[in-house]
Amino acid sequence: MKAVVYEGVGNFRLEERPMPTLLDSRDAIVKVTLASICSSDIHIKHGAVPRAVPGTIVGHEFVAEVVEVGTDVKKFKSGDRVTVNVETFCGECFFCKRGYVNNCQDKHGGWALGCRIDGGQAEYVRVPYADNGLNHIPEGVSNEEALFVGDILATGYWAAQIAEIKPADAVVVLGAGPTGLCTLECVKLYGPEKVIVIDTSEERLELAKKQKIADITINPLKEDVEKVVLAHTEGRGADVVLEVAGGKDTFQTAWKVARPNATVCIVALYEDSQELPLPQMYGKNLTFKTGGVDASCCEDILKLIACGKIRTDYMITHRVKLADIMGAYHIFENKLDHVIKVAVEP
Ligand SMILES: [Zn+2]
Ligand SMILES: [Zn+2]
Repeated sequence: MKAVVYEGVGNFRLEERPMPTLLDSRDAIVKVTLASICSSDIHIKHGAVPRAVPGTIVGHEFVAEVVEVGTDVKKFKSGDRVTVNVETFCGECFFCKRGYVNNCQDKHGGWALGCRIDGGQAEYVRVPYADNGLNHIPEGVSNEEALFVGDILATGYWAAQIAEIKPADAVVVLGAGPTGLCTLECVKLYGPEKVIVIDTSEERLELAKKQKIADITINPLKEDVEKVVLAHTEGRGADVVLEVAGGKDTFQTAWKVARPNATVCIVALYEDSQELPLPQMYGKNLTFKTGGVDASCCEDILKLIACGKIRTDYMITHRVKLADIMGAYHIFENKLDHVIKVAVEP
């Protein structure tokens, strides 16, 4: 089968690989029906994910059809349409029992698919702990509508959840890229008074407004971000800030636009270390929460898609065949051709 393989820093290649097989009674083999390229794939390519193992098939954002299950898989059978969770988790360890599945103590716990074990930019995938790692796609929900559930949408949902947004809060989201848009979709579930989104792309800001997931947009290339946020929050700053951009100075903007006693939720995966200027923020009494996602709410997210409360399929701007994925990588990595997300069909 065809698959995209991480050969080493700076090098992804489309190759022929053998079909995966069941290795454990809790595994499932799934046939990928639609996959995507995530910015975390680009981070792997750049060597910014030290635990990524060369020789691994990449891709951790995909939907599939079950073709074979191990004898201990209870919830799924051949033919089921499923979303696949970016995280592998046993469901039984200290962290899993508390919902912190990102830190599952299993040797392959956490983000393993497409990083440390073979992932979804391929025709078939072995999914460990299938009863935990898969979710049924409800009838009436398309593959495109469900494509981001296991990764960036799970991330946005988790971020909005841990940010403790209260009704009538003023919320700032830095970044209107794919994960930023997913975060905005989930922030609106909490009934904020206003949502302010910050990005350097006019096009992405426009999209957030058009989808009615942002009330106010700020482009730091054109406006003084701190001033505009203060003007919209009676001079206080935002009640909740979600930093999804991961840019050079976006962490600094995130804590500066937060009001005293705010929660600042860091969702972004940075490629460089960030400075925490404690003397400057002394007295602001901020609460910081940091990534990555505990993707333990995929079933709820699918319900919200099914009833129309969350939508993300509008982010798919490009559709390609797996055979043409390297061209799509070039477009996605360099943000060419107005790309937001790519849907890849095997
Ligand atoms: Zn991802
Ligand atoms: Zn676990």
